[in-house]
Amino acid sequence: MAEVSILREKIRAVLPDIRELRHKLHQIPEVALNEYKTSAEIRAYLEQLGLPVQKAILGTDVTAVLEGDQPGPVVLLRADMDALPIEENTGAPYASRHPGFAHSCGHDGHMAVLMGTAAVLSQMKDQIKGTVKFLFQPAEESEAGAKTMVRSGYLEQEPKPSEAYALHGWPGVPAGSVECCAGPIMAAINDFEITLTGAGGHGAVPERAVDLIGAASRFVLDLKDFIAALSTPENPAVCSICAVHGGTVFNVFPDKLVLRGTARYLDEATGDKIRGAIERLLEKHILAAGGQYRVDHPKPDYVATVNNKELLKRVQAVAEKYLGKDKWNGEGRCSMCGEDFGFILQKLPGVYFHLGMGENYPSLHDSAYNFNDDALENGILMMCGLILER
Ligand SMILES: [Zn+2]
Ligand SMILES: [Zn+2]
Repeated sequence: MAEVSILREKIRAVLPDIRELRHKLHQIPEVALNEYKTSAEIRAYLEQLGLPVQKAILGTDVTAVLEGDQPGPVVLLRADMDALPIEENTGAPYASRHPGFAHSCGHDGHMAVLMGTAAVLSQMKDQIKGTVKFLFQPAEESEAGAKTMVRSGYLEQEPKPSEAYALHGWPGVPAGSVECCAGPIMAAINDFEITLTGAGGHGAVPERAVDLIGAASRFVLDLKDFIAALSTPENPAVCSICAVHGGTVFNVFPDKLVLRGTARYLDEATGDKIRGAIERLLEKHILAAGGQYRVDHPKPDYVATVNNKELLKRVQAVAEKYLGKDKWNGEGRCSMCGEDFGFILQKLPGVYFHLGMGENYPSLHDSAYNFNDDALENGILMMCGLILER
């Protein structure tokens, strides 16, 4: 296990800089496709390591290639970059300097882990069998930046990767532990907007108006029953209506009502069943009430993030050797949150794993969430281990 302690030493030598870099990135949170300052920081750091940065594909992505001295596979390591339109409430001395924006999903920590990995591995080229591709990817949140990167042909660029790995900080898991599972680990997302229209009218004369609110209420309740029957522990599904907009006064039926919601599932066949049920129930309740409906999908859909079973064994071996057996849980639960790394894993075998932030920890997207610096070292160990264990 000597090599593990040597690697740990190398990581500890860069850790103070990496922690500081994370705090710097934390102060400049930028939302999807606006990660310009973030991108410049990463680029400067990689260049100072002697890693040439490639031309950006989406404007703000930062990609670099590190060639090992020995032959071997090309492995892609990815960190997401974007922040959220949330007012930070962490009390950290290095809190966001961009009012109304914060790294409440901890992507600052993911970038710091990958920068630390690049710093350590670039000192160990003689021990690397193969090539490492570093991908700092924009727009993970709601804009599916990974999908655009894949469509741009990034994965076909030489040297072509044959495996991919990514991590996400995870509240509720002991700090620095790794949780993972075979198969789907993050759900597919299909957000939708339903616009209902019909004759408005005086609230005192309901027989002359279309009661969109009543019809929508029946629709929402029926949809909940449908999902409750569809979802099983083995194949969970969720469909939540999270916004209703319509009407203004006590006594007028609105002529328009807008519902927004999100469907989450693990395979497309289940997604099709949910989409089918939405159509069927809208027909049943809205058309029957004399109204009209339209369903739109204004946000990009996300596919499920599905881990490769064989490569999961590699992740387990690395976690057990480098972090210790007690830091590994391969029986983690699939989250119904989404993740655009799924688009990369559609093209390449790979693994996405959760890095523990602590057991009693604010949730992701909570204004109090702040990536736990204590997990940086193990995050870097995992990423380096995945490259060095060949
Ligand atoms: Zn997020
Ligand atoms: Zn995230």
